[in-house]
Amino acid sequence: MIGSEIIEEYDLENISIATLGSHSALQILKGAKELGFRTVVICKKGREEVYRRFRVADRIIVLDEFIDVMKPEILEKLKEENAIMIPHGSLIAYVGVENIKKLELPIFGNRILISYEGDRKLEREWLTKAGLRMPKEFKDPKEIDRLVIVKFAGAKGGRGYFLASSYDEYKKKVDELLARGKITEEDLKTSTIQEYVFGVNMYFSYFYSPINDEVEFFGIDRRYETNVDNIGRIPARDQLNTNIEPSYVVVGNFPLVARESLLPKILEIGDNVVEISKKIAYPGLIGPFCIETMITDRLEIIAFEISVRIVAGTNVFTQGSPYSYLLYGDNVSMGKRIAMEIKRAVEENRIKDIVT
Ligand code: AMP
Repeated sequence: MIGSEIIEEYDLENISIATLGSHSALQILKGAKELGFRTVVICKKGREEVYRRFRVADRIIVLDEFIDVMKPEILEKLKEENAIMIPHGSLIAYVGVENIKKLELPIFGNRILISYEGDRKLEREWLTKAGLRMPKEFKDPKEIDRLVIVKFAGAKGGRGYFLASSYDEYKKKVDELLARGKITEEDLKTSTIQEYVFGVNMYFSYFYSPINDEVEFFGIDRRYETNVDNIGRIPARDQLNTNIEPSYVVVGNFPLVARESLLPKILEIGDNVVEISKKIAYPGLIGPFCIETMITDRLEIIAFEISVRIVAGTNVFTQGSPYSYLLYGDNVSMGKRIAMEIKRAVEENRIKDIVT
């Protein structure tokens, strides 16, 4: 609990909100400013212009690489600012979960759960305990008996994922990818073979407030993935001739609303995931999280991942979502919701309940 120790030395009247200049930083910083916080953005050289132009940062710290945020002199600057770090996907991708665990700054959220990100085994345990259905996983490719998606870990993102319907097809594609140098034996070892779920994507974002002890449903997005989202524009006949493999590289997001009859289930999922989180890593979830799902034509919700922090899909709701509007009226983004929680925690002297 490094963060809650450090925050004892902070001047809580003068807290600032800090985040890495990437991912969802614009809405995080804008939301913090709207609540009257000072804001600090930590940028990789060459990307500071974005935060200058949109006038969301009171201070811009420029680094050669994001990982330099771990350097003592940078941490010192952030402590002088009484900075609370807001984690997001780029903190995880560029600083890494092991470093986040030991980052000597108060982090908004539960850093132990944040470090689950990317660990498909821990995520699966958590989500299934919460009663969520997940796609079947095949430990041994020889057992493939239906259409599967083969996923590679880490920075490869959705690039290079491939589909196969049998062991022979799997083996043929793997050999080809290895021969072309597209993957390594190591990538293969850490890959996951998952049943391909037919349906549509919905990414449910929630906010758990320890202050109100309530799970708020925030909104839904779907990703815009290249090339899979446009593969249907090529007639099947031509696809056969070109040997196209789908890729799932995210380039943006769309806002969505769910048919209202799905809402009871969506709310229940959020509640269950929070409840289990308290058992697996006390005090459990704090703030934003997102459950990535596929909805089938039987209206089953199949989850394949959880993100324990703000997701970039909430960027479509900088002015608020259809659901945050119901709770708070206009203009409450996820970034602003985070700032609201921090402000209230400071006012009620409960800051240690929301940082770790
Ligand atoms: P992931 O890297 O697990 O977030 O997956 C990237 C994308 O691949 C998702 O947004 C989906 O479009 C697709 N995908 C992942 N898992 C499955 C699955 N089990 N069935 C069908 N599509 C999937």
